[in-house]
Amino acid sequence: MYAPPGVKTNHNEFPIPDTMKAWVLGNPGELAIGKKPVPVPKKAEVLVRIDAVAICATDLEIIYHGPPASIQGGLPFNKNFTPGHEYMGTVVALGPGVDEYKIGQRVAVEIHAGCGQCKRCREGMYTSCHNYGLNYGDVDKGHRANGFTTDGGFCEYQVNNINTLVAINDEMSDEEGTLVVTAGTAMYALTELGGLVAGESVCVTGPGPIGLMAVAVAKALGAQPVILTGTRDNRLEIGKQLGADAVINIRKTPDVVAEVKRLNGGKGVDYVVECSAATSAVNDAVRMVNRGGKVCLAAFAHEEVPVDVAHIVRNNIYVYGIRGEGKSATHRAEAFMQQKRFDATKIHTHTFPLDDLPTAIRYAKDRVEDAIKVVVKANTGAAQKEAAE
Ligand SMILES: [Zn+2]
Ligand SMILES: [Zn+2]
Repeated sequence: MYAPPGVKTNHNEFPIPDTMKAWVLGNPGELAIGKKPVPVPKKAEVLVRIDAVAICATDLEIIYHGPPASIQGGLPFNKNFTPGHEYMGTVVALGPGVDEYKIGQRVAVEIHAGCGQCKRCREGMYTSCHNYGLNYGDVDKGHRANGFTTDGGFCEYQVNNINTLVAINDEMSDEEGTLVVTAGTAMYALTELGGLVAGESVCVTGPGPIGLMAVAVAKALGAQPVILTGTRDNRLEIGKQLGADAVINIRKTPDVVAEVKRLNGGKGVDYVVECSAATSAVNDAVRMVNRGGKVCLAAFAHEEVPVDVAHIVRNNIYVYGIRGEGKSATHRAEAFMQQKRFDATKIHTHTFPLDDLPTAIRYAKDRVEDAIKVVVKANTGAAQKEAAE
């Protein structure tokens, strides 16, 4: 029985085995299910029983190409690495000294636990930790980014620093819980990094999960108008349900920049959140913002593209990248969700058992049945593929 020294458990209510099911990445694109020891929480850490984990486009990048995962300083292949980072679950064991959370508490988890020592961590920007990935061999800086630099969530249990936990109430479903961090990323982009205040105008390019959550969070923050651009009408329709005042299908609109300006009284918008990774995206975005406006780049582009720097300079445009969900923005996103300011579950489309991870990945990758967020669940013997309502 799982009983590491100094670790608090409650085996009557939450029995913990010594080993667990875990998916492991072999060669690119190859996942195999096997057994791993249940990990042990250290100081300031808890053991989370993973109740649901969503598949992210970044998981697909990691599984098929490697980066942005970095395991032992290199590519993640054939290193006994378990990917998956968008999970939620139940606290089932407490590391030494932990009293901030209780056994049995449901939590969403942020991905990044910074080292807590570097300049950026001290500023609350722990997703930009200067000791990123330095947690192997003799080097242990305390940094973890589960599913990127340390084992992630495509398994039954994982260890999380208490700073990464966001308590959620019982009204929130497991599936919705996996979206707290997605919404938190949008919050970080718009407020902590962007400085958005109510009444400012926003255009989101690309209706993927982060783009759709950016629409929802922007509207909940009081942005006006919120415009969403994309190529798929069904996703644009979900954007409307999440609060977009206007949507633009770029396949049907020859000049999307002119259309964004038209929708905002002839001027560009104050913010563009770029979530499409399209080749023309950056140049379009810097023309969609007004002079002095801000462009947040939230998508991983696959190729280098020429950018009209002179236009950016002449117009005093701010361009910034975003990595993850810093400055505890996730807690504020969860507060919106708890108040039902938007319904994040609209982007959840499918659930599969953990054992069927390859099927779930195929649905997410090939967008089978218009899949957006696909979730896998370990602890539902009866978990069936289900369409979200
Ligand atoms: Zn993700
Ligand atoms: Zn750090």
